[in-house]
Amino acid sequence: MTVRLSLLNAGQTELTDPELDELRAMFHGPLITPEDPGYDESRVMHNGMFDRRPGLIVRCAGPADVMGAVRVARERDLLVAVRGGGHGIAGHSVCDNGLMIDLSAMRGVWTNPAERIVRVQGGALWADVDREAQTFGLAVPGGVVSTTGVAGLTLGGGLGWLHRKYGLTCDNLIAAEVVTADGRLVRASSTEHEELFWALRGGGGNFGVVTAFEFQAHPVGPAVMFGCAMYAAEDAEEVLPAWRDWTAGLPDEVTSRILFWTMPATPLLPPEVHDRDVLIVAAVHAGSPDEGAPALRPIGRFGTPLADLSGPAPFREVQRNLDFMFPKGQLRSYWKSVTVNELGDDVLDVLLRRGLNRPHPRTLVHAPQMGGAVRRAGPADTAHGDRSAAFIVSIDGNWTDADDDAATMQWVRDGFDEIQALPSTAGTYLNFSGDRDLDNAAKQAAFGRNLDRLAGIKRDFDPENRFRLNNNIQPAMAR
Ligand SMILES: Cc1cc2nc3c(=O)[nH]c(=O)nc-3n(C[C@H](O)[C@H](O)[C@H](O)COP(=O)(O)OP(=O)(O)OC[C@H]3O[C@@H](n4cnc5c(N)ncnc54)[C@H](O)[C@@H]3O)c2cc1C
Repeated sequence: MTVRLSLLNAGQTELTDPELDELRAMFHGPLITPEDPGYDESRVMHNGMFDRRPGLIVRCAGPADVMGAVRVARERDLLVAVRGGGHGIAGHSVCDNGLMIDLSAMRGVWTNPAERIVRVQGGALWADVDREAQTFGLAVPGGVVSTTGVAGLTLGGGLGWLHRKYGLTCDNLIAAEVVTADGRLVRASSTEHEELFWALRGGGGNFGVVTAFEFQAHPVGPAVMFGCAMYAAEDAEEVLPAWRDWTAGLPDEVTSRILFWTMPATPLLPPEVHDRDVLIVAAVHAGSPDEGAPALRPIGRFGTPLADLSGPAPFREVQRNLDFMFPKGQLRSYWKSVTVNELGDDVLDVLLRRGLNRPHPRTLVHAPQMGGAVRRAGPADTAHGDRSAAFIVSIDGNWTDADDDAATMQWVRDGFDEIQALPSTAGTYLNFSGDRDLDNAAKQAAFGRNLDRLAGIKRDFDPENRFRLNNNIQPAMAR
């Protein structure tokens, strides 16, 4: 067979059977063409909107395969997509006709309990990290859905249930091993390739393929106090301001958020909330359950909840609590988010109206509290940019029918525009962005003054912009 592949800028090239055989012999992991078993499984993204067909997939077995794949891409000038956990909302990690560098088989995690360091391969999911780290009573601050990839989440910042105590995920990165656009494997840390290390902490997948991350971990669990009260959405007008006022005095141990959602009728949930529109007030206390219980008690007292699921729970279970709401490939998703300096009544008003009028039961309007350790890092300490936000407001369109694409995406954009027009808004969080191509305003909103420095680092490490299927930063002009 012959495989047709897109070139980086324009045009196509072909790989013949003997050329494919030569490549097969070179890689340890499988080389997957559209004719091979495993092709569909590899190209399925979490977001069901993307039915893209790469020309060739290299399912890498280790860093040597990643280096080989990047070299092949460079020698043949191929368009490249890099897949970690496959959860990217904008679908950057899969492309039509290009070469897909698939790290989904690289999920190893090793914990060094003495130094509290967790080493994670570039295709691992948070469930993999939680399993290994919790065995030693440790946790790396990750996301709130355990099937999300470590790579994309970390490179884009990373927030979850522990960020107010321990910072963003990227703040806990102490080193990364990266295959750069010229096919070299380099190590970036505070003492090696320092500029690259700075850029990896929030600058996305622009600078190379990360084959391994090393994180500082923290003692957490095995049980933590989980707060989760589900109020009838009709009561939100009373509950929302009470929650907002409560968050003002919280210690960093507590990371809280609210979520407007519709609960499915599942045995996982109490019957009182089945098929109900709810406002969930949730939080995790990063200390012991005994310390956490009194701190989180108010969660069930902002009104009369339909159900209060609060209680001590294994940290790993907390990390998996929301997984069932995000079945792989079954939802179409388009998200946009705004960071806000304060949750004034004007922001609450939009939250309330949007939250009560969601176009699909799985569409979610949520607001995690920021601050704490996130804010203690300066805006130029990492590429992530502005840290001043008190909250993020995210409008997460999730739906099932392709006929609803246009209307739901417009609904998300309208909500975003409405909040962005308010005086207290600051920026945007790109991990919660469904836009494939970012305009300059979005890049400024995300990176602020860090954008120029990022463009310079991009020029130094990827002058041809080979890694462009991401929240792309154009290389600065040559020096
Ligand atoms: C259900 C769900 C829950 C989420 N929850 C959270 C949350 O709690 N907190 C949060 O901060 N975010 C969250 N996110 C957003 C998430 O952080 C981003 O979607 C992130 O990009 C996913 O990373 P991934 O590796 O799974 O995705 P992918 O689609 O594989 O990749 C996303 C981007 O990263 C690049 N990339 C992937 N792997 C590598 C690598 N090894 N080296 C270099 N570049 C790479 C890709 O090329 C692409 O540009 C969630 C997303 C979903 C769908």
